[in-house]
Amino acid sequence: MTSEERALTTTTTTSQDITTQRRPIVAGNWKMNTSVPEAGVLAREIAASVTCTAVLDIVLCPPFISLTTVYEAVASSDLVVGAQNVSAHDKGAYTGDISCTMLRDFCRYVIVGHSERRHYHLETDADVNAKASAVLAAGMTPIICVGEQREQRDRGETQTFISAQVRGALDGLHLDGGTSVVLAYEPLWAIGSGAAATGDIAQNVAATIRATVGEMFGPAIAGAVRIQYGGSVTDENASEFATQADIDGALVGGGSLKAWEFCAIAAAFAGKI
Ligand code: PEP
Repeated sequence: MTSEERALTTTTTTSQDITTQRRPIVAGNWKMNTSVPEAGVLAREIAASVTCTAVLDIVLCPPFISLTTVYEAVASSDLVVGAQNVSAHDKGAYTGDISCTMLRDFCRYVIVGHSERRHYHLETDADVNAKASAVLAAGMTPIICVGEQREQRDRGETQTFISAQVRGALDGLHLDGGTSVVLAYEPLWAIGSGAAATGDIAQNVAATIRATVGEMFGPAIAGAVRIQYGGSVTDENASEFATQADIDGALVGGGSLKAWEFCAIAAAFAGKI
């Protein structure tokens, strides 16, 4: 059963005054952590502990080398697997890269434009756009990350910058409904810092993201698109984000490496309904 087919859940009035229902989505970005055996153990622990997959989507994004192990570990559960990155190319002389065609048998989602990819691998908005396009064409869902630096926030540039990132990532894409993509607001100053944004800050930016999607694709898609917050989400602060009108889930880094904490974060978003 696809996420689109499952019963939709939350009732929310968005910044555009669109009343819609959106199924929460919580994704764990394991980054470059876990050996293959450790990834299998963590996936099995989460699958055994999680209780809320009837009401939200839960995505595990292990390193590439552990994708098949995690896929098999969660095969009999409702958990699904995502990749942390992908090439925009389908095949050929791209040493070290992985294509959508290679991922599509295992992955439902692919994270694109994570700030660590933008920073360490100099990925541009155009790269993010090309990857998102490839992910959509392969029948998977991109989780597109956007986020400002501390200095941009201090200069009052956040909303303009985020809106431009969203436009750059989504430019020219054909969205087959709002659930075709997920957007993740991840302020760079909050990622891995232990200092999460406040619920109000995250909600303000999520509202801007939704408004930008509305300007590009119209109110129906804007009302249906799911927006995550990411950046030092823990079991203790998750409910602060889950209670925001335009935040439909979390992209979780460090907090996704402990099964009990990741499950507690997921449970906070299950409480949205
Ligand atoms: C991330 O890298 O996507 C992330 C949100 O990390 P953390 O939760 O560790 O801040």
